[in-house]
Formats: sequence, C-alpha cells, structure tokens
Amino acid sequence: MITFDHPADMRNWSDDAHRQGKRVGLVPTMGYLHQGHLSLVEIARRRADLTVASIFVNPMQFGPAEDLERYPRDEAGDRAKLEAAGVDALYMPTGANMYGPGYQTTISVAEVTSGLCGEARPIHFQGVSTVVAKLFNAVRPDVAVFGEKDYQQLATIRRMVRDLDWGIEIVGGPIVREPDGLAMSSRNVYLSPAEREAALALSRSLEQARCACRSGEVDSDVIVERVRSVVATEPLVQLEYAAVVDAESMQPVDRVGANTLLALAAQVGTTRLIDNTLLAAA
Ligand code: AMP
Repeated sequence: MITFDHPADMRNWSDDAHRQGKRVGLVPTMGYLHQGHLSLVEIARRRADLTVASIFVNPMQFGPAEDLERYPRDEAGDRAKLEAAGVDALYMPTGANMYGPGYQTTISVAEVTSGLCGEARPIHFQGVSTVVAKLFNAVRPDVAVFGEKDYQQLATIRRMVRDLDWGIEIVGGPIVREPDGLAMSSRNVYLSPAEREAALALSRSLEQARCACRSGEVDSDVIVERVRSVVATEPLVQLEYAAVVDAESMQPVDRVGANTLLALAAQVGTTRLIDNTLLAAA
C-alpha cells in the first residue's frame, strides 16, 4: 500500500492508473477504522481495479463545541487494517496540504442539508461537501463509496456530484452493526459501559418502527412516536430528532412510501450518535 500526503502526488498516481485503463475507487474516512469502514473498502474493491482509502479528520466539518480535539486516532492500526483489506493507496493529507494559507472556498448543498443533522450542526455539511470535493479532485475516482450510516451525508454527496456534473459513481454501503444492534461508529469508543448499554435503545427503536411498518403502519407521526417512546425508556439517551423523510431529498414526508428513510440522532452522555433505517410500507 502506497501512501500520499499531497494532492499532486495522489493525482499523479491516479492519472497514471487511468492511463493504464484502470478504474479507481475511493473510500473517504476520518480513520479509527472499524468493520463498517472495511465493508466499504470491500465494495470499492469489487467495483474498481484499484482502491484508494483516505484518512483525514476534517476540521471544517466540526463545530466549535464539537469533538475535533478528542476525535480518536490510530494511524498504525488503520494502516494495518487497510493493508489487510487490500487497499492499494492511502491518501492521508496533512492539514496544511488540504487547506493552505488563505483558504476560503466552500461548497454548500442547500435543501438536502437543511434539516435533520443540518439543524444541530449548521456548518457540518458544508465542511463535508467541501472536503469530499477536494478528495475527489486529488483522487479523481471513477467510483466512491459512502456508508448509509450517514445517510444525509450520502444524499448530500449524490446531490453535489449530480449538480456539479462530476460523473463519479456514488455507491452507498449498508450499515454494519455490532452483534447486539448498535451501529458501528468511531465515536462508540467514547461510551461508558452504562451508556453503551443504553445506546441500544436507538437500534431497538428503529427495529420497532420497522416492525410497525410491516404491520401496516404508514403514518410518519405514529412511527416517530414509536421511536420516541422506546428511546424515552433510557434516561441516559436524549433524542435530538427522529424524522421520516424522503431518502433522496431528506425532506419530511407524512406517510411511508417508496424510498422513505427514518433517521434519528441522540445524545448519549456527551456522545452524539446517529442511526437510521429505510422503511417499506407493507
Ligand atoms: P467516518 O470515518 O465516520 O467519517 O466514516 C467514513 C465512512 O464510513 C462514511 O461513508 C460512513 O458513512 C461510513 N461508515 C461509518 N460507520 C459505518 C457503519 N457502521 N456501517 C457502514 N458504513 C459506515
């Protein structure tokens, strides 16, 4: 696995791969890798000849009161995992190589980012779309893989690529969960044992909502109420939002239809967790 920390070097490698007629796949991450990330690498490997993973903890997507400073890091462990997973190149730009002196350009995707996580994290998606745009320009992937765990992020990137005529194929990978249902996340490491246990209310509430849908429930308010009542049984979990939205536009819908997403965010102690599920009407 070859490592690059400068966009020009990364681009040279990718241009060379393209000259050889190879398809390049990209999996962007912030590191502290788990099986969720590695499942995306696996998807990228199936869809491309050469796979690039990036690791960059992007300051632009963290708010002033968020966890940028304490975000977990494990460079040696991440390298070993990516190498074992068959990644061909690791792009790990330094902060200065990503945002040089005088940096002032951002990309913002309007409607898709207006609700859900965009409400509590007003600058978050602008940071995400900007850094992903820069990763795309450095890696020049033919295909890029993002997890459905961050569904609003996936929808934002899809919209950006379409709006900017990028011609990059965007693929979503299913949420990978711990055996007890908790969605894998680098942030789970922050949870105390009691919080880790309480956090199961989130996946449990989504399962109950799916179950209600299977029994014929289509009313969004009823489904959200079901989520609220399950989460309310855990005093350590404070629900920030639960919403039923169209999975492409991220706008609220009154009833479950085709391509409907139930998404939630919650505070568990000092840790903010998100989870979601697609809903299908019976
Ligand atoms: P992050 O390192 O948290 O920025 O995540 C990098 C990529 O991995 C994003 O596309 C996430 O959606 C994806 N990801 C994170 N957790 C999971 C998971 N449990 N299952 C699938 N994909 C995930």
